[in-house]
Amino acid sequence: MGYIVKRVAVLGATGSIGRQTLEVIDALPGHFSVIGLAGGRNTALLAEQIEKFQPRFVFHQETKTPPPTTAEYEFLSMEDIARHPEIDLVVVATSGKWGLRPTLAAVQAGKQVALANKESLVMAGELITQEAKRNGAQIRPVDSEHSAIWQCLEGESSKPSKIILTASGGPFRHYSLAELAKVTPEQALQHPSWRMGNKVTIDSATLMNKGLEVIEARWLFDMHFDNIKVLIHPQSIVHSMVEFADGSVKAQLGKPDMRLPIQYALSYPERLANPHLPQLDWADIKELNFEPPDFDSFPCLKIAIEAGKKRGTYPAALCGADEIAVQQFLAGKIKFTAIPELVERTLDEHKAISHPDLEEIMAADDWAREKVMQLAAGDKS
Ligand code: MG
Repeated sequence: MGYIVKRVAVLGATGSIGRQTLEVIDALPGHFSVIGLAGGRNTALLAEQIEKFQPRFVFHQETKTPPPTTAEYEFLSMEDIARHPEIDLVVVATSGKWGLRPTLAAVQAGKQVALANKESLVMAGELITQEAKRNGAQIRPVDSEHSAIWQCLEGESSKPSKIILTASGGPFRHYSLAELAKVTPEQALQHPSWRMGNKVTIDSATLMNKGLEVIEARWLFDMHFDNIKVLIHPQSIVHSMVEFADGSVKAQLGKPDMRLPIQYALSYPERLANPHLPQLDWADIKELNFEPPDFDSFPCLKIAIEAGKKRGTYPAALCGADEIAVQQFLAGKIKFTAIPELVERTLDEHKAISHPDLEEIMAADDWAREKVMQLAAGDKS
């Protein structure tokens, strides 16, 4: 049987995950064809990617107009690219809530969806997993932790009794609350093991990122929140684990490099040799440490899980509030420890709607953004 070239769209092509996705595709000639590209702010990079990959469909988020290139393509919206019949697999690497509509369009069109956008499942997990089921779409997680769990569950017919999400703990793992209050944006942007965008790097430092991943895991693997555990593992070698009823534990290990989970989401069920991917040298691993998370110094973890349990529009409000709080911190306007405070106060005031549709989800996110700005401004005056 000849290998069929998979037709891929990369949404969020100019961001960290998008760029690494194109690196993987470039390293595996003959396997994938880039049919669609959508990029954000970096117009020059998007134009470069268009010249190189010659996609048939393009979208440019920033200007909503075609970037200047000599290549010929059709200018479509992200949703139209995501649902296009000539595309087999959609990589949703768009950041923030901009990923929701294309993810929904892709699952409704029954695509294979390599999902790197956190907000899709956090904000709209119920809606998106229902639509995926109804339309025969497959959601393939790109995040390293969820990819690890997915890989551990391959070939198993029993549901795990427990999922254990590992977290690096970020750069401030053993800081007290008093020390955390003095953390600067420059310090928070220094992640010890992963190369990622600014928002997710700050979310990793507050552990909000892990809280969002718990919510995603709930939807991806249909697990009860009580059976999803978080474990700090500073080496970022064990990417996550599953435990079964008989007590057996399976883990997936690898060097912390996003290209591996990206490639698995693209090539599944095959595994392809990629000379650019780092190999794990067992003799090199001096130790693998694990410790429980500190819920008191990193309240974002608990805040996120609580919002996930309450469902409805709470997780959408959580995402909107966190995004603005992180922006305010990066702009030097609030302390690091004000991020969880503002998010929690916002959620306390949220009037949630249960089983929301997409518009209600987006509205909750907008409301939370406004609310955080008001609360932050009020604290200063
Ligand atoms: Mg992750």
